[in-house]
Amino acid sequence: MFGPEDPLTNSQIAELLAIAGDDAKPPLNRAYRRASRKAFLWEEEAVSLYQKGQSLTELPGVGPYLEKIIRGWIEISPIVASPPAIRENFFTLTQVRSILGGRPLWSQGVKGDLQMHSVWSDGSSSIQEMAEAGKARGYEYIAITDHSKGLKIAGGIDEKQLVQQADEIAIVNESLRSADRTIRVLRSIEVNLSPRGEVDMDLASLAKLDIVLGCFHSALRKKEDQTERYVTALRNPAIHILGHPRGRVYNFRDGLSADWAKVFAVAAELDKAVEIDSYPDRQDLSLDLVRLARKAGCQISIGTDAHGASQLRFIEFGLASALKAEIDPRRILNFMGRDELLNWASSLRESTR
Ligand SMILES: [Zn+2]
Repeated sequence: MFGPEDPLTNSQIAELLAIAGDDAKPPLNRAYRRASRKAFLWEEEAVSLYQKGQSLTELPGVGPYLEKIIRGWIEISPIVASPPAIRENFFTLTQVRSILGGRPLWSQGVKGDLQMHSVWSDGSSSIQEMAEAGKARGYEYIAITDHSKGLKIAGGIDEKQLVQQADEIAIVNESLRSADRTIRVLRSIEVNLSPRGEVDMDLASLAKLDIVLGCFHSALRKKEDQTERYVTALRNPAIHILGHPRGRVYNFRDGLSADWAKVFAVAAELDKAVEIDSYPDRQDLSLDLVRLARKAGCQISIGTDAHGASQLRFIEFGLASALKAEIDPRRILNFMGRDELLNWASSLRESTR
């Protein structure tokens, strides 16, 4: 709880918007819920805009109607209860920036991004465009992790398309090499895991990739303990990284429960990585679980889950969480150079052969 003397934060405004969204009728409820999500991406605290006499409609998701409502809240500074689990432990961009602000070397040390989608599945940018965006961030690599065939709703690709995609990646890499660019595109995939922890792609085709990310997309609302599916997935020799482990989505789905200490211990034993999916609505693992992962000592992978070139900036959310959890940068894949990363990935394959 926060007293009335404290100015409202964007995080509290997001919570007030979400609560108002639960109480409002369509279509207003959708506007509230949308603004609640967007508040996590506001570049500045709404209160400071207000104090400077600027319009709050400068903030994404805020039109004239919501601006009046938010102004009212800022003026009375109501007490805001902690959010329920479905909205708990999400950083806002302003929090992320203040966490990273004191440690510029953290953001500058990132050598790549390990989850993103292209037009091959449900992304909006080409591989070339994603590579350009990665180059602009000074990366050594980006991993293209389009969805696999089991996830039809996201345009998942099959083994044949994966081979065609390899040709395109080779062409992009060749043009980067001849232009003396450092960055390379890594061949990867977000392979769909069944609720039993099994992959939906031919193992031989996965073995040709540089790195493989495995993710659950079904039976994500189960209440019972799901430790077993995570352990099975981690033990699958095809998988290097367990992506967006909980499957939570802000104000939409809580995600799964498991004995996380055990899941992370298995990852550590196998030298595999668990992901911090940095997409603002996901932030999965959440900070509490990143801390548990640190205790277990497993590898951490940070991926933006970008669905367009402009979303590579979401990396800050994952970095802030890792920094806040005091993860040793040597345990974070994204701080490895390209060769070190590829060596790690191939050594995992050898050890499970
Ligand atoms: Zn996914």
